[in-house]
Amino acid sequence: MLDALPYDQVILDIKRKGESYINIPPLSVFPELVHGFTTRFGGVSKNEYATLNLNYNKNDDPANVRNNFEILGKKLGVEPDNMVLSHQVHGKDILYVTKSHAGMGVIRERSYSNIDALVTDEPDLLLITHYADCVPLYFYDPVKQVIALAHSGWKGTLLNIGVETLKKLESLFGCNPSDIHVAFGPHIQPCCFEVDYDVAEIFHKTFTCAKSFTFMKENNKWHIDLKRIIMYNLLKNGILEINVYGCQICTKCNKDIFFSHRGSNGITGTGAAFLMIRG
Ligand SMILES: [Zn+2]
Repeated sequence: MLDALPYDQVILDIKRKGESYINIPPLSVFPELVHGFTTRFGGVSKNEYATLNLNYNKNDDPANVRNNFEILGKKLGVEPDNMVLSHQVHGKDILYVTKSHAGMGVIRERSYSNIDALVTDEPDLLLITHYADCVPLYFYDPVKQVIALAHSGWKGTLLNIGVETLKKLESLFGCNPSDIHVAFGPHIQPCCFEVDYDVAEIFHKTFTCAKSFTFMKENNKWHIDLKRIIMYNLLKNGILEINVYGCQICTKCNKDIFFSHRGSNGITGTGAAFLMIRG
């Protein structure tokens, strides 16, 4: 498995150019995909939400959020009425997105709730999931031409939402795990993801691998490497090592570039992962 981004260079480039999103390099080899992870730059929101907040459920002016979706859409060449947004609750439920959902969560009400992962086999629908430290997972099966996004915070990781999403791709579309590419986006890394022992203990009890990926630091605090736990579970379920791409960018260490819940005591905006097959 690879940690695909040359991180120092990427961070310097983002700051210098002030771009509204970064690409995930292992997905850039597929020209049919529109994909990325948004930064804080280029939007119209102010103060804690500056500037590209994409979450209506914050104390930000909804007109600003709508405007930010428009700005992102223009950069990608995708109309907001072809975007579909999750409804995240740190659960493990997955929505099969079709044209009937176009625009939901962005320009019109959703017909669904409690959805932490999105899958589709339809082109020209931009799947969007929200982040401010949690782990974004991008799935692409170039054989079956299907995509998925999954939001895996520590609770979602305990629920194994990455593997749940993989199973959904297999059951809905007949995907073979060995064809599926999985890429991670920026998220809170073990340097900053600190918990008390009670949380570490739940991981130890849930996953046999977790003792290798949790580390006790000073003051009886524990640090958890969510990425390695998620990867371990995906590999155990048939994803090939050569098709998994990690990401070492820490959202909290780079809270000036990415929204970070822990980097802002919970008062901040929300960024997004997005993924679409261009038809
Ligand atoms: Zn960090």
